[in-house]
Amino acid sequence: MKMTDCQKRIINWARRKSPWFLHFNTGGCNGCDIELLSVLTPHLDVERFGILKESSPRHADILICTGPVTAQTQARLKRIYEQMPAPKWVISAGSCSCTGGVFTGGYNILGGIDKVIPVDIYIPGCPCKPEAIIDGIHTLLEKIG
Ligand code: SF4
Repeated sequence: MKMTDCQKRIINWARRKSPWFLHFNTGGCNGCDIELLSVLTPHLDVERFGILKESSPRHADILICTGPVTAQTQARLKRIYEQMPAPKWVISAGSCSCTGGVFTGGYNILGGIDKVIPVDIYIPGCPCKPEAIIDGIHTLLEKIG
C-alpha cells in the first residue's frame, strides 16, 4: 500500500520524537562508551528529547558505534546492522569509530566502521564529548525530515 505525504510526515514526526538507539563497541578502549552512557545520566538526560537506549537491534532506529572495526567484530557489526528494521541510521562516535583512530595500523584493525556499514553521522573526538553525541543525534533527527 502506498503512503500519502501526510502519512509519511506523521511517521517521520513520530520517529524524530522517539529515536531509540543501540550501542555497540566494535573494539575501542571504553572511553567513548563511558561518554555515551553519560548522556543517559540525570545530568544530561537525553530521555527529555525522547531518546531512549534500546538493547535489541530489532527495536532500534539508530546504531551508535564506538571503537574501530576489528577482524573479530566486523561480522557481528554487519549482523547487528542487518537485524535492525529499515529505515535505520548509523552514528559513528569517536575518532576510532570514524577512522580507526589511535588503533590504526594494528594487526587486526580494519579502520572506521564505514568499512563495514554505511554511516550517516560522524562525531570525532578521543573520546567524543557527550554534548557532541547529543548534537550528533539532533543533527541526524533533522536529516530524517
Ligand atoms: S576515540 Fe579515544 S576514547 Fe574513543 S575508543 Fe578510541 S581511543 Fe578510546
